[in-house]
Amino acid sequence: MINIKSKEEIDAMREAGRISAKALQLTGAQVRPGISTLELDQICEEIIRLEGAVPAFKGYNGFPGSICASVNDAVVHGIPSAEIILQEGDIISIDTGAIINGWVGDNAWTFPVGEISEAKARLLAKTEECMWAEIDAARAGNHLGDIGHACQKLAESAGYGVVREYVGHGIGHMMHEEPNIQNYGKPGTGPLLEPGMVFALEPMINMGTADVVDGLDGWLVSTADGQPSAHFEKTIAITDADPIILTQ
Ligand code: MG
Repeated sequence: MINIKSKEEIDAMREAGRISAKALQLTGAQVRPGISTLELDQICEEIIRLEGAVPAFKGYNGFPGSICASVNDAVVHGIPSAEIILQEGDIISIDTGAIINGWVGDNAWTFPVGEISEAKARLLAKTEECMWAEIDAARAGNHLGDIGHACQKLAESAGYGVVREYVGHGIGHMMHEEPNIQNYGKPGTGPLLEPGMVFALEPMINMGTADVVDGLDGWLVSTADGQPSAHFEKTIAITDADPIILTQ
């Protein structure tokens, strides 16, 4: 069952969204060659806690970090580490969320480290475009499949692979609520979208094949072909007009 949130509940979710977005933006501003992903994690946790919130990821199913830090061919769920030092030309997906007043926010962005190749810049731009296309499809009267289709069409026409095994999700009091939101699909299929549904939309797009492999730590997901992957995410609410971006 997909939870429908009232206007008041959606308003209450804005604070979790605001803190999640602030933490992501300020942490992203620290991305540079020479910094470790563990340092980024510490920066992010401090920002979230200074706001009086709790990092949503820390301890989630045992995840040790406040961010997922996924570099280059890492798709999602990278564990922050002092050993992973960013280098000029890398890309890093930072995914983070905050819990406050019992509500969760969740968002991600892929940042360039210094100067990146044109091919990586194109991947980032296209994946961000996929995210906005998903948000634009998140409208009452559309179907869930329209969201995935909007992403798949853009990504595959650019020659990229859409990750199948990991998906977006409903969000509210819990970080992961129903439904799972595939980043691929057929228009007009799946549940009808209604005002009050709140979703974390998060395309994961690979430069090469869509296939991914799981890491030995039980968390890290990487591309099967070793090519780079990008990931952008926002928490949004469906209304009877334009979708509202909660992680603003
Ligand atoms: Mg998410």
